[in-house]
Amino acid sequence: MTTVDSASDTLRAATLTASYFDGQSAKAHTAQLQFSGDQLHIVGENIARNVKIRDVQWPERTRHGRRIAHLPGGGLVQTDDWAAWDAWQAAHGRHDSLVVKMQQSWRAVLASILLLVALLGAVYGWGLPILADVAVAATPQAIDVSLGESTLAAIDDSLMLPSQLSATEQRRIESAWQQAVDALAPAKTPRWTLVFRKSRIGPNAFALPGGTIVMTDELVKLVDGDTQVLTAVLAHELGHLEHRDGIRMLVQVAVLGSISSMLLGDFSTVLAAAPALLGQAQYSRAAEHQADVYSLRVLKAAHIAPSSMVKLFDKLAEQRSQGKPKAIEKPEDTLLGIAFASHPTDADRIAFFKQAQP
Ligand SMILES: [Zn+2]
Repeated sequence: MTTVDSASDTLRAATLTASYFDGQSAKAHTAQLQFSGDQLHIVGENIARNVKIRDVQWPERTRHGRRIAHLPGGGLVQTDDWAAWDAWQAAHGRHDSLVVKMQQSWRAVLASILLLVALLGAVYGWGLPILADVAVAATPQAIDVSLGESTLAAIDDSLMLPSQLSATEQRRIESAWQQAVDALAPAKTPRWTLVFRKSRIGPNAFALPGGTIVMTDELVKLVDGDTQVLTAVLAHELGHLEHRDGIRMLVQVAVLGSISSMLLGDFSTVLAAAPALLGQAQYSRAAEHQADVYSLRVLKAAHIAPSSMVKLFDKLAEQRSQGKPKAIEKPEDTLLGIAFASHPTDADRIAFFKQAQP
């Protein structure tokens, strides 16, 4: 209601017909409600009751619905004609509290949702990486190791079989890789262990928190055992280990989950699904780029052409275009969102290695 209400509206709104219950019997009486000074008059057949307006418990109302006001000393007045009730109240300068009005206004609801999204965006884009750095630095390496072990056990259960590569072939790949790492700065590189597996997810490689790097037989076959290409992939994975990207991603997901839970008032479990999250989430573009930069450093130190990585991207693209093995479609395959070849390579990454000087 606003000040431009017509005079007739105001007159009609002066009194309200409602049902009155005296608080003793269950019988409803028809009564006229009227404000006068600081009093509310309730008048009907054999009814004449006056109560102080401020002693009445006025309803916190929803947009549409029955209005009930409880009277001091018992009894109540009510009506299903919510529109007439609201007009009557407004005509006497009784307006809803700001909170009720805001709850009723879709615009306000929308604005608070947008504010929440903006806040989360700011935390995610700006505050979260800083927060994650602090949290990751404070997380003991032992947590990485135990998380990596349990994740590997889960992956072995569902997606992996023992490698069919010969021990000689495994040693050949590992010693070529070891040589490349040694060329970098052995004292400063993170701890790593290389393991091979025959997999149900095709050619791939990934690093788990704690230092285990898994390489699939299918990846070795895809590049015909080319140790320079395999070294480029392993160096990328070592970059993820160097930056503790696995743990960092978990921290970010956990922090973001906690913040939105707090703001949305729902304290559901956040960390229970940590190992699953590690597989389902993907590293950010920034993390992938950092790992590529690290890979390039290893390649240069070991005098391996940066184009070795391009070779791998080409092989993967070739295989995707042939449609085998089937892309990541089955739900269990999403368990490895962090794996090297599990998502399409973007042109920027290829260009990065193409343009790099040997
Ligand atoms: Zn990666």
